[in-house]
Amino acid sequence: MADFQLDRLAWDKQGGLLPAVVQDAETLRVLMLGYMDRGALEATLASRRVTFFSRSKRRLWTKGESSGHFLDLVSLQADCDGDTLLVLARPNGPTCHLGSPSCFPDAPGDFLAELGAVVEQREKERPAGSYTTRLFDAGTRAIAQKVGEEGVETALAAVAQDEAALGDESADLLYHLLVLLRARGLALSDAVAVLRRRHGSG
Ligand code: AMP
Ligand code: ZN
Ligand code: ZN
Ligand code: ZN
Repeated sequence: MADFQLDRLAWDKQGGLLPAVVQDAETLRVLMLGYMDRGALEATLASRRVTFFSRSKRRLWTKGESSGHFLDLVSLQADCDGDTLLVLARPNGPTCHLGSPSCFPDAPGDFLAELGAVVEQREKERPAGSYTTRLFDAGTRAIAQKVGEEGVETALAAVAQDEAALGDESADLLYHLLVLLRARGLALSDAVAVLRRRHGSG
């Protein structure tokens, strides 16, 4: 999990504080940058909640301590020369205190992973009027049929050399595949993990 030895980190280099970049573990979107002293790093590892040393408060600050928007620790690593930390975390709500998911307004992320998270939320909350809700209410067989249809439409668009339709149908296919995977308790990351394994052993 923690791929370093605490004593090996460059604590002396920058007055005992290391910058820590936090990324969303699912989408890899950069969420924020904070600073950790040794105590903050130890608190993060012990509590599994990302904790910084706040330079304005002059004390340990567990992100979310008043808002409830904690960052649950997934992994933590140091860079090549041990003077910067990279934290992967699962956010509970917006990370920025202004209400956005990231402190960087246009931080890029894996959009399919983000859409997968929206689909998961729809499955849990079933908001009225949502097409995704209707699909989940219709059940696995109906969703599977849509995936089959969109797959055929994608293939037909390619054969017809209709590039605009190929883009559209591929989008339909990917969306319905996300819904089907979710209906069976899977996520796109499960399929990606299979591809990753094959890639490694190929
Ligand atoms: P929280 O840690 O989310 O309970 O927020 C407590 C306070 O910490 C906020 O009122 C802000 O002053 C500050 N704060 C929260 N999130 C951030 C952030 N992402 N970057 C900088 N300051 C923050
Ligand atoms: Zn470095
Ligand atoms: Zn912010
Ligand atoms: Zn279609």
